Amino acid sequence: MIIVACLIMTNIYPVINMRTMLYESKKSEMQNQESVIASSLAPLGKLSADDVEKVMYLIGDMNLTRIIITDTSATVLYDSSDNEGNKGKYALLPEILSALEGKSSFSYEFTSEATKSRASQPIMYRGKNLGAVYIYEYSTEEAELVMALRGNLGKISIGVFVLAILLAFFLSAFLNGRLRSIVRAIKGVAAGNYGSRIDVKGNDELDELSREFNALTDRLQKTEELRQRFVSDASHELKTPLAGIRLLSDSIVQNDNIPPELLREFVVDIGQEAERLTRITEKLLELTRLDVKRQEIKNAVDVGQVINESMKMLRTLAENKDVTVGCELEDNCIIWANSDDIHQIVFNLVENAIKYNVVGGNVKVFLYMKESMVNLIIDDTGVGIPQEDLPHIFDRFYRVDKARNSDVGGSGLGLSIVKDTVEKHGGSVEAFRREVGGTRFMVSFPCYKEDDHA
Ligand code: ADP
Repeated sequence: MIIVACLIMTNIYPVINMRTMLYESKKSEMQNQESVIASSLAPLGKLSADDVEKVMYLIGDMNLTRIIITDTSATVLYDSSDNEGNKGKYALLPEILSALEGKSSFSYEFTSEATKSRASQPIMYRGKNLGAVYIYEYSTEEAELVMALRGNLGKISIGVFVLAILLAFFLSAFLNGRLRSIVRAIKGVAAGNYGSRIDVKGNDELDELSREFNALTDRLQKTEELRQRFVSDASHELKTPLAGIRLLSDSIVQNDNIPPELLREFVVDIGQEAERLTRITEKLLELTRLDVKRQEIKNAVDVGQVINESMKMLRTLAENKDVTVGCELEDNCIIWANSDDIHQIVFNLVENAIKYNVVGGNVKVFLYMKESMVNLIIDDTGVGIPQEDLPHIFDRFYRVDKARNSDVGGSGLGLSIVKDTVEKHGGSVEAFRREVGGTRFMVSFPCYKEDDHA
């Protein structure tokens, strides 16, 4: 619409301007011509047809189409195109009448074929009106000029209009295409496909928008991964104390003649596991509330003591599987850690050693100090881990033989949580194949030094 309005303006304005210019120049030109005629006739004092004829003969036609000279009664004294014998007749043209009243006049008529200019003026001599001069010009030149200008402007305008429409069409098709791809990507993310990205090639505003969108979806994807990881880790962490409670209650149920002291001990242990469960739940709630790294509560932890507590819970599992569990624990193996985390590590490793063992197999737990490190070794005589799987068993959701393990019902998360937790406490964990068969897990922590944590 704006382009069309501009084009109309550029078509009309120059034509109007040109016509005004032509009008002005024609007016002054004709007034000059009239003045020349009037001033040439005025000295005659009184106008007669013959005298006028003589003067006009000397002046010539001045390239005018018609010149009429009248006396004060509007009687024609001279007519340059006197084909019909107008001389002596009245010329009652409005221009002549107004000139006889002492007023000059000028009119300009424009048609597409020609311009018609008319001018009149009184012939004054010593304040007396002697008659009137009327001149008329018919010209096709100016009309042709204006029409050519109009025609050229029209053609240029049509060209500009077509070009503008084509350009607008291609530009909007191009922009629409890009906007469509952005909308497609947004819909993808809205439908849960966090991997949907927009191709960014240039540097304009849409590319900037796309880059921002991609950065946003990157963050969304990471948050989603973290969320999924959090949910699976959280449920696994909750599983450990729940399994403990289950195993302890199984021990009570399966032993008919359980001594009251032992029963009491088991119930106390169940209570402790419930407390651990509460602590873990609180820790998880805290994690969801705070996006910052949680300040871990750490103490000097006697690892041997934690192992003994974990063993109580795992005993029933070992008995059910007919697996013997033995411990060789050095005293005073103390590290700076969170006791729930250490329990989680020991429980997971020993539980695996029992779970993936054979009927009648053995599990042996060693704890000792060597070169300012506390080492924990869990040996089993179980099914073992194939060499090619060893580098992957600490990966999340990695399970060695899914068919073999389906009856055990694990999630493949335990060892990855063990590794994360061990590393969080500055330790390391490794798995080996034992020459005698079965698996060895070895965990090392820097031992507790009072000066470091004073
Ligand atoms: P889950 O036991 O829940 O499947 P883990 O991360 O604890 O997950 O263990 C990963 C895999 O490593 C297990 O599926 C199992 O195949 C193997 N694995 C772990 N510990 C042992 C072990 N002591 N003996 C043999 N295989 C083991």
